[in-house]
Amino acid sequence: PVRVRFAPSPTGPLHIGGVRTALYNFLLARKLGGTMILRIEDTDQNRFVPGAEQYILEALAWCGIVIDEGQGVGGPHAPYKQSERKPMYRAYADQLIADGFAYYAFDTPEELDAMRARLQAAKVPNPQYNSITRAQMRNSLTLPEDETQALLDAGTAYVIRLKVPRKEEIRFQDMIRGWVVVHSSAVDDKVLMKSDGMPTYHLANIVDDHLMEISHVIRGEEWLPSAPLHVLLYRYLGWEATMPQFAHLPLLLKPDGTGKLSKRDGDRLGFPVFPLEWRGVDAETGESTVSRGYREDGYLPEALVNFLAFLGWNPGTAQEIFSMDELIEAFTIERVSKSPAKFDQNKVKWFNEHYLRAQPNAALAPYLLGALAEHGLACAEEKAEQIVGVMKERVSFPQDFWQEAKYFFQAPDAYDEQVVAKRWNPAVADALTAYAGALPGAAGASAEGLKNLFNQTLEAQGLKPGQVLQMLRVAITGGAAGPDLFETLAILGTGEVAQRLRTAVA
Ligand code: GLU
Repeated sequence: PVRVRFAPSPTGPLHIGGVRTALYNFLLARKLGGTMILRIEDTDQNRFVPGAEQYILEALAWCGIVIDEGQGVGGPHAPYKQSERKPMYRAYADQLIADGFAYYAFDTPEELDAMRARLQAAKVPNPQYNSITRAQMRNSLTLPEDETQALLDAGTAYVIRLKVPRKEEIRFQDMIRGWVVVHSSAVDDKVLMKSDGMPTYHLANIVDDHLMEISHVIRGEEWLPSAPLHVLLYRYLGWEATMPQFAHLPLLLKPDGTGKLSKRDGDRLGFPVFPLEWRGVDAETGESTVSRGYREDGYLPEALVNFLAFLGWNPGTAQEIFSMDELIEAFTIERVSKSPAKFDQNKVKWFNEHYLRAQPNAALAPYLLGALAEHGLACAEEKAEQIVGVMKERVSFPQDFWQEAKYFFQAPDAYDEQVVAKRWNPAVADALTAYAGALPGAAGASAEGLKNLFNQTLEAQGLKPGQVLQMLRVAITGGAAGPDLFETLAILGTGEVAQRLRTAVA
């Protein structure tokens, strides 16, 4: 059975790259009738950030990424948080030691520093604890057995390291990259258990993926360098036959393509990099910080999801608008690209405009009503729906409705000067006055009716609509652009329109 997992570390708010990873896992799970699992990888207690786990759950839920099993949901492999699974890992480290694939290392931080300094002085390009350097260190491979035992009995601090072979080709097939071949000399003897008894990411991740029967590991490219090590672990633990398939997703780049999009880029480049707003504390200064979120900035989750789906994947057709169900239908790992994807803030806005327009007016009206209430104004629900209905083609975000639709509630206090300079003359003023005079007889008329009345009025005055239309708009709204003018008049009502015309002409 297909079982995929999203395995974030709660070290801060989930970045949109993490949301994309979760999304691709979810799409594959749904597509193949599999299970989507959420596991919290919190073995690194130093990097634990309060509130981050809650944030992850909330962000996934907002995006419509449904967790079938795991943290917050439960399931047959509970608990799904690694700190709560701590007692389970030790046995696997012991097994590796017993089988000769791992060893105890007693080196103190000073001894490790000294080793690095020695290697640097000898101009070794990439100083590592590995098959060559371990020979000079204090570990159970170099010390006599009884000495190792004595150190353990005395409670000396140690870590457990993987014994990476000196000369071996490690190969595995990545679903996106094809065969990946790494020589073991490029892999160091990674720590599997820390001196505090906590497993490292590597050990806990492999043990959990195995115990949770994960079939596909879909994660960011930054984990590709760890994959050879993981392959060795599967082999040494005797789990190679059921090793999951790997798929490493392409990097997300900054809009200008100059490197990886980072958690800090949002505030610097002026767009959110987090799904939800995050209130945190700056680790260095201790000051509270607020990072923008897509939700708070007025993005609809459908827009963010559609956008993220295309950061590294495409359906191979011209279709760009995909609901979650359509994404599930169209998604395949084979169509995920190897090359990095550039973040494009205009594109995500474009998606938002699309999804905003697709919303029923009744769903958008509350945004306008909320803003009205803040300004001490009120309006009937039905009228609010009409207004957002004509306005939704013109806004990118729901919070723009108020700014754009203000003139439905307040007569203009200024008129567009360019239009006035170009279009205003006594004949136009007479025509607007005549229209104002005719309006009371058309109370309750539709946009169509008001337009006909306008055309008739102008005909009687010997003018063409083109000579007066722009000035009519400016007199009513103050501005030179807006939605369909006669729709606007119909919503305002004949009384208000006549009043505004008289004010403008006076
Ligand atoms: N805990 C890792 C992370 O935070 C998971 C990497 C993986 O999926 O193996 O991204």
